[in-house]
Amino acid sequence: MKNKFYILLICLITISCADNKKESNEVNLYSQRHYSVDKLQYENFTKLTGIKVNVIKANADELIERLKNEGENSPADLFITVDAGKLQKAAELDLLQKVSNSTIDNNIFDDLKDKNGFWVPITYRARVLVYSNERVSKSELSTYEDLVNEKWKNKILVRSSSNAYNQALMSSLVANLGYDKTLGWSKGLVGNFARDPKGSDRDQVKAIAAGQGDIAIVNSYYIGLLLSSEKEEELNAGKSVSVFFPNQGEGQRGSHINVSGIGLIKNSPNKANAIKLIEYLTSDVAQNTYVQNSYEYAANPNIKPSEIVQSWGSFKRDSLDLNALGEFRGEAIRIFDKTGWK
Ligand code: FE
Repeated sequence: MKNKFYILLICLITISCADNKKESNEVNLYSQRHYSVDKLQYENFTKLTGIKVNVIKANADELIERLKNEGENSPADLFITVDAGKLQKAAELDLLQKVSNSTIDNNIFDDLKDKNGFWVPITYRARVLVYSNERVSKSELSTYEDLVNEKWKNKILVRSSSNAYNQALMSSLVANLGYDKTLGWSKGLVGNFARDPKGSDRDQVKAIAAGQGDIAIVNSYYIGLLLSSEKEEELNAGKSVSVFFPNQGEGQRGSHINVSGIGLIKNSPNKANAIKLIEYLTSDVAQNTYVQNSYEYAANPNIKPSEIVQSWGSFKRDSLDLNALGEFRGEAIRIFDKTGWK
C-alpha cells in the first residue's frame, strides 16, 4: 500500500513537472550580438508567440565560461555569437545539442550550415577592404595577401588582434594558406600599418576620412551603418570610402565571411520555445528585418541585402568550412603574438 502511494506520488510529480515544462513561456538567450535590431526581433517574436525572450549579453568567451560553470543547471536555451569559431568551440566543449528541424533547414543557405549540425547561421558578413575615394583607386586592390605590398606602407588601418573578427580572418588565412605563409603575411601587414591598432571597425573608417590611412579592414555592415547614420561625422566617414571585396579573381577563394549564429544549449530547459525562436529568426520576415536594420547579409536565400549593401555588388564568398575559424584560432593567436599585431 505504501509502495503504491509512492508510485502515485512520483507519477503526480512527473506529470506536474512535464506540465510545468509545457507551460514555460520564456526562452533564455546568452548573446554576443551587440546590435539594436536584436531587441526589435525579440519583441516581434514575443508579439507573435507570447513567448518572453530574456537576454544576457557578454562576449563569447565569457558566455562559454558561464555555460561551463553552470553545467546541467544552466538556465540558458540558446547561445548566439558573431563568430562561427565560438560556436565550434562551444560544440567541442559539449555545451550544445544538434538542431534537426526541417523548417530551419529549409530557411538557410546550404553552404553556410554547420556540417556537424550543432549551430544555425542567422546572418553572415564579409570582412572587406574599404579604401579612400580620394587616395586609392579600385584597380590597385586585389587580395588580402596583396596588402603586404610595399605600396601600402603606412596606409593600412585595422583594429587590435584581441578582436574576434580579426581572429576569425587570421584563422581563415591559416586554414587556406598554412601557418608559415600566414605568419609571413601578418609580419608584412603589421609593417604596413598606418598606426598601432586601436578603436572599432567604425573608427578605422573615420581614420581614413581624417587622412590617417588609406585602406581599412572592416566588417561589411559597419559601412551600411555609417551611411545610414544620423550623425554627420559617421555619414561623412561612410561617404569617404568605397567597399572592395578581396580575392574575387578567377581561381581565387573569395572574400572571408563569418556568420552570426545560434547554438541550442545541451540541457536547454525551454527547448520547444528555443526551436520556435530559431525558426522565427531564420524566417523571411525576420531575415528581412536583419538586412534592413543591421546591413548584414541574410542567411536565408530568399532575402536580398538592403539597397545600400546591394549597391556594392555581389561577391564570391570563401567556401571554407566555418568551423575552421574555431579550429585554427590557437594558431592565429600565436601569429598575432609573434608578429607584434597588438
Ligand atoms: Fe559587430
